[in-house]
Amino acid sequence: MSQETSTLPKLGAAIDEHLLKTVGVPANEASSTDLMQAVALVAREQLAERWVETQKANRADKARRVYYLSMEFLIGRSMSNALAALGITDAAAAGVSEHAHKLEQITDREPDAALGNGGLGRLAACFLDSMATLGLPSFGYGIRYEYGMFAQDIMGGCQIEYPDPWLADGTPWEFPRPDISTSVRFGGWVEHVGEKAVWRPAGEVVAKAYDMVIPGHGTKKVSTLRLWKAVAPAHLDLAAFNTGDYGRAAAVKNEFENISWVLYPNDSTPAGRELRLRQEYFFVAASIYDIIQRHLAEHGTLDNLSDKVVIHLNDTHPAISVAELMRVLCDEHGLPWAKAWALCKQTFSYTNHTLMPEALETWPVGLMQHVLPRHLEIIFRINAEFLAEAEKFRPGDPGFLSRLSLIDEAGERRVRMANLSIVGSHKVNGVSALHSNLLVETIFSDFAALWPDRFTNMTNGVTPRRWLSTANPGLANLLDKHIGSGWRINLDELKKIEPLREDAAFRASFTAVKRENKARLAALIEKTTGVKVNPASLFDVQVKRIHEYKRQLLNVLQVVRRYQAILANPHAEWVPRVTIFAGKAASSYVTAKSIIRLIHDIGAVINNDPRIGDKLKLVFIPNYSVSVAEVIMPGADLSEQVSTAGTEASGTGNMKLALNGALTIGTDDGANIEIRENVGDDNIFIFGLRTPEVQALKRGGYQPMRYYESNPSLKAVLDAISGGQFSPSEPGRYRPLIDSLLWGGDHYMLLADYQSYIEAHDKVDTLFLQPDEWAKKAITNVANMGVFSSDRTIAQYADEIWGIPVSR
Ligand SMILES: *Cc1c(COP(=O)(O)O)cnc(C)c1O
Repeated sequence: MSQETSTLPKLGAAIDEHLLKTVGVPANEASSTDLMQAVALVAREQLAERWVETQKANRADKARRVYYLSMEFLIGRSMSNALAALGITDAAAAGVSEHAHKLEQITDREPDAALGNGGLGRLAACFLDSMATLGLPSFGYGIRYEYGMFAQDIMGGCQIEYPDPWLADGTPWEFPRPDISTSVRFGGWVEHVGEKAVWRPAGEVVAKAYDMVIPGHGTKKVSTLRLWKAVAPAHLDLAAFNTGDYGRAAAVKNEFENISWVLYPNDSTPAGRELRLRQEYFFVAASIYDIIQRHLAEHGTLDNLSDKVVIHLNDTHPAISVAELMRVLCDEHGLPWAKAWALCKQTFSYTNHTLMPEALETWPVGLMQHVLPRHLEIIFRINAEFLAEAEKFRPGDPGFLSRLSLIDEAGERRVRMANLSIVGSHKVNGVSALHSNLLVETIFSDFAALWPDRFTNMTNGVTPRRWLSTANPGLANLLDKHIGSGWRINLDELKKIEPLREDAAFRASFTAVKRENKARLAALIEKTTGVKVNPASLFDVQVKRIHEYKRQLLNVLQVVRRYQAILANPHAEWVPRVTIFAGKAASSYVTAKSIIRLIHDIGAVINNDPRIGDKLKLVFIPNYSVSVAEVIMPGADLSEQVSTAGTEASGTGNMKLALNGALTIGTDDGANIEIRENVGDDNIFIFGLRTPEVQALKRGGYQPMRYYESNPSLKAVLDAISGGQFSPSEPGRYRPLIDSLLWGGDHYMLLADYQSYIEAHDKVDTLFLQPDEWAKKAITNVANMGVFSSDRTIAQYADEIWGIPVSR
């Protein structure tokens, strides 16, 4: 490790002391779990000091702070990152080696904090890392889910979901803040006394704060992730308990505490459940309360709120913040409406994460009336004033107004949370150049006509600390040796390795590192799937949530084609391939689950076909998570990013893979476009329709059957799957899946892109047969990933949206 500062001998003693005095075991009898606890406690002490110092400094500065509100923070494990940030990795390794343990065994004992579904939640985690590293005065706010993202197991090829009790043994990484709590109220009705609105809620729950300290790298600054736990005001109904009615005794507790029980297993569509709405309001209300308290303690007035407070909405899940801040300012602090609204708009900004209209969050007016009656009134008033303004902009156009309205009046009336977020914010951003352009051209075009300057782009990024330094120590060491260690906090320095692509010795070292990482990934594959794979094969990786728009099924078609082609021509020079999938399907998403099963059914046939051998393997690594991703990314040769053009807002998996030296095979979509611009057309495999072509084909009447009938290879693949070749015990198992392509309109246009995809894969094979050329392109990818550091993204947010100067 490079940035070591601490002294080696002291840490061994500190670990032993924690084993004895905190964990409560004799140092010489410590298990790996005990050691994990003790090492974490050593780190925790230092984090606590840094936290106190950071808060003190920010208070003294009367700092402008950013508050990042997100329903999801997909943190993963904390240990390796904390040790690296504190500069005590080597010291900790030396300390645990005295107990005959490797640091790796220790860090492996830690469960993931999986408080998110996928990209959106992981982005929030990368952002906190960058905010800390850039020294931004910042808090993340979210929910302390008792059960995070479900754990995925596979039985008979099918996804089985288990609860994820990540807190069962407690976590050394959280700091309970017993003094920081507030009541969050729900339901009831509103009374109007003259000008004044008085909310008479029907119930309330206490929100209690738990902090996780997010250390910066190359700085002693930290950020705070403050997570709220719901606690019932009354413990047990003791009267009920004493009559022996234990169910009723606990009911009061459960009725409210269930708010922070589970993360909704979904990342794109609203759960449509009252509990989800309660969750959203719960963490928003607690966070806004906390923000206002801090502001008043520091400034004694709300007049300068928007000078000192920036609240960022990560998607619309926290959008009720807009109404809540108005309620707090007007109803609780007596500000006039107009003044409160001016502050509110200046305070909020909003990131959109999806272009798919069906994935935009809305809530039935009736449900909101029931759960948040005062907020609904506030939303109606915001809407009335907003529509009056919009009417002046474009008089006599009722269609314009009905599209802008915060209320969808068609059918059951619903509140449109994206519209509320846009109206309540001064800036709205998409997450890649393409996505931000499409936002103003498609779903938000009416708002863009009204307020063109409100819309902007912030291309996503990933933290190089977790996704390169920690996940890929082999490559990190190689980089350190050749260009120094500064890339960790200035990823643009990677550019310095580009000339080394011509250096045969460097290429050999680079390839050797990749090979080691592939051996590590092969071991994970064998351990989790029982399939032995050859690390000399091309490792072709598609890891992400299972979703039709991400088109894992297109990749499956390609695998079946390859299988058929090998059988038809067994003596050709086949590039040995391992196709690797991982990802979870939302529990209610039938088609996604069917795709998981299909992958397993096809894998069972291919992997056991003696005619195929190492030429082709197909595996599905179960329980995709941050820690699994940390093993997969460094071991990938090829990164599959094959969403239908115009559907993937950005992607961040694509960035992690390229940063670790995988070449991308992808469509002209999301951040793939910017990856191509940075690495150059020759170092990426782009295929398929572009967004305007997708739109034109849709308009012109897309006929998937035409592709089926005119392409014999495609026909053979679809017939094999549909006809039950991979599901002989139930030949009709995949009929519906294939029928949805042929007869159901093939919504994501797999068939239109099939041939182009196959040809791109053929180019991949050709290149892989020239290892030197492959290595040069892989090195070029790494060298040009600097711009995809989340440090760049956050510096841009800070500069262009949040107005907080970055001090580094
Ligand atoms: C990066 C990441 C994602 C996002 O992947 P995409 O390919 O961008 O969809 C999802 N889950 C985990 C665990 C990740 O680390």
